[in-house]
Amino acid sequence: MQSFHPPRRLLLGPGPSDVPRRILDALARPTIGHLDPAYVGMMEELKTLLRYAFKTANPLTIPVSAPGSAGMEACFVNLVEPGDTVIVCRNGVFGGRMRENVVRAGASAVMVDDEFGRPVDPEKVEAALRANPGAKALAFVHAETSTGARSDAATLCRLAREHGALSIVDTVTSLGGCEVDVDGWGADAVYSGSQKCLSAPPGLSPVTFSPRATETVKARKVPVQSWFLDMSLVMAYWDGTGGRSYHHTAPINMTYALHESLLILHEEGLEAAWARHQANHERLRAGLQTMGLALLGDDDGARLPQLNPVVVPEGVDEAGVRRALLDDHGIEIGAGLGPLAGKIWRIGLMGASSRPEAVDRLLGALAQALG
Ligand code: PLP
Repeated sequence: MQSFHPPRRLLLGPGPSDVPRRILDALARPTIGHLDPAYVGMMEELKTLLRYAFKTANPLTIPVSAPGSAGMEACFVNLVEPGDTVIVCRNGVFGGRMRENVVRAGASAVMVDDEFGRPVDPEKVEAALRANPGAKALAFVHAETSTGARSDAATLCRLAREHGALSIVDTVTSLGGCEVDVDGWGADAVYSGSQKCLSAPPGLSPVTFSPRATETVKARKVPVQSWFLDMSLVMAYWDGTGGRSYHHTAPINMTYALHESLLILHEEGLEAAWARHQANHERLRAGLQTMGLALLGDDDGARLPQLNPVVVPEGVDEAGVRRALLDDHGIEIGAGLGPLAGKIWRIGLMGASSRPEAVDRLLGALAQALG
């Protein structure tokens, strides 16, 4: 056996996205101890940068040491107790994963279903909140990676607040790619992933808890069933004020990479990054149109710029085209998930992958693959 050297790819799927050399270089810097004062200083900066990306002043804003699914789980296991009721919006695959989390935390999930490809319907959510007074939380996916739909997070968080429920928001695919405004929305528990519009490798999940969510964790009647994800323990590890205490060994080099990716976002500016994602989405959409290809869903502001679901034309070998893109052009795109399997391709223009040359290269390759 020999060292592994991965093939060169252009990553235009649903994540991970291309990781720039600058971030890979950060990853390769020397590993130091996770309680080393130099490292602790970097952790403080990382929290500040995450607050910038999430647009929040929440003190409890940290990267969970595991991928996006762990950030999701951290929100549910900390805020939901056995016997609670949680309203879960499902307009794609990841809403279904949220439901699993609720049920496994011993709570009941009231589902608000919308067609895959459509955003969450706030009217249905309001009806569910009315029908379930005392619901602990409302959970929804802001950017559904399985369909490319964007839901109205500001309205949904407001509805939760008006009905005395916490909001749990998935921004795995939105953070850095389109507007995320945690404090403006008044969101309570929000999680993301490092590998999408932040363009760091997968393996870290930024999360932020509002003061209301933090109080809820402190007021729990039963301990969090997950020792690793228990925020009251994790908080002490990430808290720079009271002297840091060992909880687990952070994935040190991965945090260097996330730090670098957030610096890049900060240098570009949030608004500029969102505008870049929008411009490259429009470039792709125009190119697809000239090839006679259509995007799933309506163009009514609910479409994500960073995840483009392309309808597979009648008679075309969906998997064959993806394979040809990979084998002949080194380009990865994604397949449909769940009920959309075989029906769409998912073209991600996330983070460093959202650039005009990438769009043009893909359009050329797609034209060849479709013959
Ligand atoms: N939520 C959404 C919307 C996602 O797109 C993903 C991953 O694609 C996840 C959660 C889970 O993240 P991870 O695969 O990093 O565990």
